[in-house]
Amino acid sequence: MFRRPLILAFLLTIVHTCARAQERMIQAGIFRDRQLTQVIVRGTSSPIEVQIDGKPAGQVGSKDAVRISVQGDRLSASSLDRHFPHGRRITFRSTGRGLLRVGTGKPVIERDYPGSITISTANGALLVVNDVALDDYVAGVVQSEAGNHKGVEYYKLQAVSCRTYAITTARRHINEGFNLCDRTHCQVYKGACRLDSIKKAVRATKNLVVVDADIRPIHATFHSNCGGETTNAEDVWSKPESYLVSALDTFCLHEPHAQWRTDMPRTAWLTYLKDSFGLDTMNAATVEAVTSFDPRCRSLYLDGAHPSISLLKVRADLGLNSALFSIRTENGVVILDGRGFGHGVGLCQEGAMHMARLGIPFTDILHHYFAEVHLVDQGAIEFFKDE
Ligand SMILES: [Zn+2]
Ligand SMILES: [Zn+2]
Repeated sequence: MFRRPLILAFLLTIVHTCARAQERMIQAGIFRDRQLTQVIVRGTSSPIEVQIDGKPAGQVGSKDAVRISVQGDRLSASSLDRHFPHGRRITFRSTGRGLLRVGTGKPVIERDYPGSITISTANGALLVVNDVALDDYVAGVVQSEAGNHKGVEYYKLQAVSCRTYAITTARRHINEGFNLCDRTHCQVYKGACRLDSIKKAVRATKNLVVVDADIRPIHATFHSNCGGETTNAEDVWSKPESYLVSALDTFCLHEPHAQWRTDMPRTAWLTYLKDSFGLDTMNAATVEAVTSFDPRCRSLYLDGAHPSISLLKVRADLGLNSALFSIRTENGVVILDGRGFGHGVGLCQEGAMHMARLGIPFTDILHHYFAEVHLVDQGAIEFFKDE
């Protein structure tokens, strides 16, 4: 066990010394939802330089483009005025400040990427990898995942979570020749960030990652709206986590997904409970319990029902927005009045966005949703990993 106060003091002192360490790179596998047989690469505003199997193969002007396709286990590449020698690996880099525009065959998708692009073959298709500075990757992910028009404090929060996640999962696709894919499996990444507010948030949080009380990077789990109370990790996934503990939240109460309602015939509700849980529908007290239920706080089971009825299972079976709801009956109709949207563990997105709009610093938002966490320099994690 670490001696925490000492360690944290130490971490704070190395935050600044590590800040100027060499920029960390991420190799992102891109267009991983496609089997690519043809790709077109061009510079957005500057000429690009081409390397084949590590050797310089000339430049291509910004009005031209290189078309790459699979030829057996090699690559065939040509621009308007020349054919490049066949190779196993082609790398493109911008000669100026421009980005690299990568386009796919049909259906055509074009995206712009910072850093360099390396293309090789894998299983008869093209493997396209974007070698990108960590913070350019983080900015791209924040834009893809958080979208536009959020408060800058919200973007800072996203930036530290996304950086933490990227660093801790960077070996996930290592056997495929890259670090992270560009799908939800890792983090959605659609290339260069266009929003200055996001770039600013990424710079303002440079090198910062979030760790728990034992200096382990956290997994910043999130959901849409907690309905006023987040939930413990173990109540949803059976494994406790020191930073994922239930907390009250008033910031999301008037947001779009704060409330929901589902009506159904009383007979249908009782039949469902009988079929799925073996509820005795002839027992008046039991029937009363399951048709009139008003929990004061989050609970796991429907009070007073035997056998016990798991609210998580009810949510899953009926496709409800959340497992936080009360039950009342009117004229033969059972009404479920629900709160929130999602599993309720960790960060409540709508609450966090509301806090950010109020100008609450992202560090306070972080501590509101995650218990006993700390922001430290990314180098600190590696330091302790090496130890
Ligand atoms: Zn992945
Ligand atoms: Zn909330």
